[in-house]
Amino acid sequence: MQEFDLFVIGGGSGGVRCARIAAGLGARVGIAESRHWGGTCVNVGCVPKKLMVQAAEYASHAQDAHGFGWRGAAPQAGWPTLMAAKNAEIARLNAIYVKLLQGAGVEIFEGHARFLDPHTLDINGEHIRAKKIVIATGGKPAAPGISGGELAIVSDDAFYLDDVPQRVVVVGGGYIGVEFAGIFRGFGAQVDLVYRQPLPLRGFDNDLRQSLAEALAAQGVLVHAGRSPNEIVLMPDNSRRVMLSDGTMIDTDLVFFATGRVPNLDRLGLNDAGVRLDPRGTVAVDSDFCTSQKHIFAIGDVCNRLNLTPVAIAEGHMLAERLFGDGTRDWSFAPVPTAVFSVPPVATCGLTEDEAAKLGPADIFVASFTPMRHTISGRVRRTLMKLVVDQASNRVLGAHMIGDDAAEMMQAIGVAMTAGATKRDFDRTIGIHPTSAEEWVTMRTRTRVAG
Ligand code: NDP
Repeated sequence: MQEFDLFVIGGGSGGVRCARIAAGLGARVGIAESRHWGGTCVNVGCVPKKLMVQAAEYASHAQDAHGFGWRGAAPQAGWPTLMAAKNAEIARLNAIYVKLLQGAGVEIFEGHARFLDPHTLDINGEHIRAKKIVIATGGKPAAPGISGGELAIVSDDAFYLDDVPQRVVVVGGGYIGVEFAGIFRGFGAQVDLVYRQPLPLRGFDNDLRQSLAEALAAQGVLVHAGRSPNEIVLMPDNSRRVMLSDGTMIDTDLVFFATGRVPNLDRLGLNDAGVRLDPRGTVAVDSDFCTSQKHIFAIGDVCNRLNLTPVAIAEGHMLAERLFGDGTRDWSFAPVPTAVFSVPPVATCGLTEDEAAKLGPADIFVASFTPMRHTISGRVRRTLMKLVVDQASNRVLGAHMIGDDAAEMMQAIGVAMTAGATKRDFDRTIGIHPTSAEEWVTMRTRTRVAG
């Protein structure tokens, strides 16, 4: 039986990073992956999603071009070509992940790993032992248990559609729901977006949520706020009829549940390992990623804390260094910048206005404008930028944006906020002209005080 210093279950973003760094620090490391190297992010998440968002944008770019004097027929979408290009890129990335692991000296197992006891795993009938084990099995889509729910697809399926549906009902107003609403709409589908809150993106700043709801409507997405599907019925022509909680009936070609994700714990044998779950059904870990078994750790979405690829990568890196290195590298998880690749994109870092107001008075600065491109493009598109500033310390507690390049900007804003930047620091920074980004350093007039 092979023996390892560290065995990682799950070859996604967090698991691969953990295995690579541990091996680089001299540990004997093995890793098992049952489905696809790179996990959700590379195969059925961030990477293909972003490519599809970019693909969908070309329709509006072509329209915008008319405002700048370009003439000629708009190009036609070629979904199969896009899918083939996307799949080829993913295959390239899969191979890179395997090469990185091999280059680091990690032993690769392709198969499902299951605990037999706290130190022994079964992988497709082969048994291995490890001194330390990391659970990095990620998450999987969750679907509401409504009548006819089996007629709907989830995000894993949405990346492998043969063609763009003419009509699609997207259920869920979270990250995935609003991102795919934009993708399908960009490709010309009639999109009905159903979410049970009054506004999309629960937990985000309310100004962003309001602006996103307006932007969705402006691009022709039919928004059904404050509603949920009660039932899906298969019609004789193979279409689907979705019955909403308020009695609305929508006939559609595709129903897409984007209703959250749950930890992927299928057939892991956690009972045999003595690993306890918390009341939410998630692997319970302490701040050192340690489970109820001292030598078994869990990182990434399987812990259901901050389900973001860069967070899982940081956790994997940090854990490997703590176990086999000096563990002195400093990471900051507050604030964590994040983006939603809706149309237009949303990006955020730190506290919302409401969260900050609970801590004490906060100065709120808001800039809302038509970005330069759209003064001429003819497309209705607004950008909103917002700073939430602690009145007592002048520190920027929150930055929020909806508009072109929001994600690109928020990464840099995240550095400033991690460094503890104050509003005075923003104000004394020279802008880059003409950009939307310069608004971050020119918001001088307070819009209101919160708290
Ligand atoms: P989210 O948790 O973001 O959103 C889930 C949505 O589904 C919410 O609108 C929720 O409503 C709704 N919902 C949940 N259960 C039901 C139900 N039974 N009936 C009706 N509606 C329901 O999950 P996603 O699936 O969009 O994404 C999962 C996670 O993946 C994200 O939270 C994020 O961490 C990560 N992710 C990150 C991305 C990025 O970084 N760009 C992209 C995609 C995903 P309510 O708000 O009322 O609970």
